[in-house]
Amino acid sequence: MTDVTHVKDTRGRRLRDLRISVTDRCNLRCNYCMPADVFGPDYPFLPRKEILDHEEIARIARVFASLGVTKLRLTGGEPLLRRDLDQLITMLRGIPGIEDIALTTNGLLLPAFARKLKDAGLDRVTVSLDSLDDAVFGRMNGKGVGTAPVLKGIDSAIQAGLTPLKLNMVVKRGENDTEIEAMARRWRGTGIIVRFIEFMDVGTKNGWRMDDVVPAREIVQRINARWPLESADPNYQGEVASRWRYKDGQGEIGVISSVTNTFCGDCTRARLSARGELYTCLFAAKGHDIKTPLRAGATDYELQTLVENVWKRRDDRYSEIRNESTVGLPKAEMSYLGG
Ligand code: SAM
Ligand code: SF4
Ligand code: SF4
Repeated sequence: MTDVTHVKDTRGRRLRDLRISVTDRCNLRCNYCMPADVFGPDYPFLPRKEILDHEEIARIARVFASLGVTKLRLTGGEPLLRRDLDQLITMLRGIPGIEDIALTTNGLLLPAFARKLKDAGLDRVTVSLDSLDDAVFGRMNGKGVGTAPVLKGIDSAIQAGLTPLKLNMVVKRGENDTEIEAMARRWRGTGIIVRFIEFMDVGTKNGWRMDDVVPAREIVQRINARWPLESADPNYQGEVASRWRYKDGQGEIGVISSVTNTFCGDCTRARLSARGELYTCLFAAKGHDIKTPLRAGATDYELQTLVENVWKRRDDRYSEIRNESTVGLPKAEMSYLGG
């Protein structure tokens, strides 16, 4: 499969990126993602046999590459909990057409794995960090974990060359919105790009309310009041974050306004769940089963046709049509899909 077929959905959107969730488990319980009272000790996480193995993931990724995917992002749950992740990365690195492999992590296990992952072929990481204040961060991550291990993880990633490194901060009104300026100040001039993310109504378990969303516009205004910003062009079509550059040359920030200023028109992302289902939208209730045909012996061509047909029928634009009545609709959880 070396020829690439560029497939488009019903809205003319190409298939360019694949996000692969390698586990539904996590060592944190962020309240906007896996609230501790829902994801407790008895929560039924996927049994091992249900989860795609490395060979299966690599085979599916190869099929996606044959349909135009050039970028892969490994996520979860917490992807660094997956055993031998470096071996998976080596397999993905060998797929023709894959230009970029990134990973989103809470950073806790980066000191142990950053070097190994880089050597295996990982290009860069995005680390999630919602606050520099231990009390605020500990409350939000549901485990009382302080910032020190994450900061150590960030250092390890930089030392290993997993750059440019980005930080994701989910902003929730009344929880960490007072930390916006502190995050900007801390990372300005370091080469690290902080991306401020509007709290989203993914899944059905995080108690989302519009009142808890701090609009991207407000985030930009607040940072701009301290350190003047100017808008920068996207790096590529379909970039999720809007870029803002510090006028004094100290780098840039990104804001992801998935609630107040949607970007479905440019959405070229597909998502593969740990269980082997293809989701064509972060807010979809159901995925398309790929694992069953794969395990039943489907050929590469058959898998390619399956994915191609799903993408060709794709019509998703949830964020554009979000309203009070869509918020409570059934949707897959973020920890399952990986964001
Ligand atoms: N565990 C890894 C981590 O936290 O980076 C990877 C998986 S996590 C689901 C991927 C990203 O989704 C993280 O940056 C996280 O902050 C973000 N996220 C989770 N729930 C969210 C929500 N309700 N709204 C906005 N972003 C969310
Ligand atoms: Fe875990 Fe990441 Fe979700 Fe936090 S955001 S609970 S670290 S999967
Ligand atoms: Fe893409 Fe769905 Fe998000 Fe719109 S709501 S940008 S279609 S994932």
